Amino acid sequence: MEKRDYYEILGVQKNATADELKKAYRKLALKYHPDKNPGDKEAEEKFKEAAEAYDVLSDPDKRAKYDQWGHNMGPSGFGGGGGGFHAGGMSMEDIFANFGDIFGGGGFGGFGGFGSATGGARRRRQPKGSDLRIKVKLTLQEISEGVTKKLKIPRYVQCQHCSGTGAKDGTAFQTCTRCHGSGVIDHVQQTFLGPMQSTATCPECNGEGKTITHKCQYCNGEGIVRQEEVVSFSIPAGVTDGMTLSLKGKGNAARNGGINGDLLVVIEEEPHPDLIRDGNDLIYNLMLDIPTAALGGAV
Ligand SMILES: [Zn+2]
Ligand SMILES: [Zn+2]
Repeated sequence: MEKRDYYEILGVQKNATADELKKAYRKLALKYHPDKNPGDKEAEEKFKEAAEAYDVLSDPDKRAKYDQWGHNMGPSGFGGGGGGFHAGGMSMEDIFANFGDIFGGGGFGGFGGFGSATGGARRRRQPKGSDLRIKVKLTLQEISEGVTKKLKIPRYVQCQHCSGTGAKDGTAFQTCTRCHGSGVIDHVQQTFLGPMQSTATCPECNGEGKTITHKCQYCNGEGIVRQEEVVSFSIPAGVTDGMTLSLKGKGNAARNGGINGDLLVVIEEEPHPDLIRDGNDLIYNLMLDIPTAALGGAV
């Protein structure tokens, strides 16, 4: 695709002032913001295009180079490496985050959508346990009537000694020194709109706000232990071979009281010695002697 002129994209004159650029860009950014145009690819492209144009033109250095060379600046240009702007490398989330700071800060007012886009970063991630998969063999009779099964299944459960925290006695914590307990760290980034503050999950404590000082000896700090558990569940009548039933929350436990995984029960049909199943019908091969077959009779 032929790259459009940056001034044309923003709809400003070649001698536009920094203020005019900013105004033009804000107008476009608001118009094409993905929040206002959900699922609209064209709007998203326009939004990125405007962001790229503004990134270059708002920087006096880049603008001077662009004025002289246009888009054709080779590998050290805007599109390539060399400190240029990478529209593609910036996720929409990054852009949202940056907008949240600007628009949410009251500069524009009234755009509720932007605030919600940044909210995600502050929310702590809830850990989820993995799913378990087991095979259950059923006879034709069990399939036709439905059945309740009780099975011993080795699964991860919450460690009782530390209440799933992984810390000795559930209390051997200290406040994370990196994020001071908030679970997130703010960092300032240079973006196309100037320095922007954004937040990320703290890598030191994985967003938990605290770190373990002494590991629980029973689970080695994992918060979960492997244990055989009897799980009982009922299988409705009419299931078929290969069908998977999902039992919510009966899979492996997650650490720190997260959400349990699911238990996936795969149905295996045991062949019957006399009956053949054809969908919901049963076929029985009845052997008859010739007189009965010819003359009829009771079987
Ligand atoms: Zn932390
Ligand atoms: Zn433990």
